[in-house]
Amino acid sequence: MNFEISEKVQVILEMTQEFLEKEVYPLEAHFVGRKFRDMLPEVKRCREMVKKMELWGPQIPKELGGMGLSLVDHALMTEVLGSSPLGHLLFGCQAPDAGNIEILEKYATPEQREEYLVPLANGDIRSCFSMCEPELAGSNPTELATTAVRDGDQWVINGHKWFSSAADGSKFAIVMAVTDPEAHVYQRASMIIVPTDTPGFNLILNISVMGHAGDDYASHGEIMYQNCRVPAENLLGPQGHGFIIAQERLGPGRIHHCMRWIGICNRSFDMMCKRATERIVGGGKPLAQKQIIQEWIAECRAEIHAARLMVLHAAWKIQHEGQYAAREEISMIKFFVAPIMLKVIDRAIQVHGALGVSDDTILSFFYRQERASRIYDGPDEVHKVVLSRRVLRDYREEISKQRLSRP
Ligand SMILES: Cc1cc2nc3c(=O)[nH]c(=O)nc-3n(C[C@H](O)[C@H](O)[C@H](O)COP(=O)(O)OP(=O)(O)OC[C@H]3O[C@@H](n4cnc5c(N)ncnc54)[C@H](O)[C@@H]3O)c2cc1C
Repeated sequence: MNFEISEKVQVILEMTQEFLEKEVYPLEAHFVGRKFRDMLPEVKRCREMVKKMELWGPQIPKELGGMGLSLVDHALMTEVLGSSPLGHLLFGCQAPDAGNIEILEKYATPEQREEYLVPLANGDIRSCFSMCEPELAGSNPTELATTAVRDGDQWVINGHKWFSSAADGSKFAIVMAVTDPEAHVYQRASMIIVPTDTPGFNLILNISVMGHAGDDYASHGEIMYQNCRVPAENLLGPQGHGFIIAQERLGPGRIHHCMRWIGICNRSFDMMCKRATERIVGGGKPLAQKQIIQEWIAECRAEIHAARLMVLHAAWKIQHEGQYAAREEISMIKFFVAPIMLKVIDRAIQVHGALGVSDDTILSFFYRQERASRIYDGPDEVHKVVLSRRVLRDYREEISKQRLSRP
């Protein structure tokens, strides 16, 4: 294992941090307090600057105009970008587009590449990923009620989806629908590209999350697909491979999320330490001299460090041994890092007192926005069940062998 940062990547990280501090942090008050759509000109301006600096699309292959970084290098950049809720969007590596780019890159036909992948990678359009449904457990994505039925040279899609992040303003959705109801449970669904101006694609509303419905990129859509007809060639990848493709999308996606969370930890921790040092409390002494605060700071520092190394190790393992070999590490980081991030944010807020819950700092936004981290991309409990099942299987097999070999 070697996480050594090359000179080139070090320069990239420093340039990214500098850009965030100068151009992006000042935009956060607008992002938190006003309609997202009103800041689209600012988004465009910053993205042009990022492209000029050749920092666009860290994970996007070079032939599509990105930087083509390795997973570990992208993880390091994601950590820096994660310190601002706008970082990923302005550098062209935001969810859910990043995951959609990955699967389009792997499965799109030449026509699909031209129509969807190229403008998406360039940041000219946005997309959403429409898998989960309100009526069925999203934690078990093999269960879907949405159907796509072949009618001549078209797919006819019917179903109810929710939490399709960033659907508002997206050019197209990648929809997971049952195409082969009689097939094995892992081969029943397919992915289909649905342009959002197709009749029958009905964005019902942006779901209010923690008091905010949001708009445009900063939203989570509830969608009805009602006799929504798209050409047969909009199938993405082989028919019946929806579940397999969804799994592929989630592996590197978890590295991106977890490293973004480490970025949030770093920023919150930094704010906590600054506030503790400058805030004078009873007795005329700074908060930082109180033992309980010192304990929080020491614990947070150690936990962030441990979480960061775990994520980098998982990224390194995916990069060198593949996603399958790293499946335990991918599960571990998902349920290990999110609670640490939530604890660090919570303590940073506590140290800030009333200021911490006001919208004058980014902490309150992190607090309400990131609670969902323990739910999306597989709730904590599912990852724990999967991991422990895998660990215990080895013990079961060993004990069975011992029993069989007894005279
Ligand atoms: C902010 C946000 C963004 C999202 N973005 C998208 C998106 O872009 N596209 C999309 O398709 N979906 C998206 N989702 C949906 C997300 O993937 C699902 O919410 C998630 O998979 C959990 O499904 P569920 O909400 O139906 O919870 P359920 O499946 O109903 O589970 C509820 C709870 O039960 C527990 N649980 C579940 N299974 C087990 C088990 N096996 N053992 C023990 N306990 C268990 C867990 O605590 C879980 O939180 C998003 C969700 C959120 C909150």
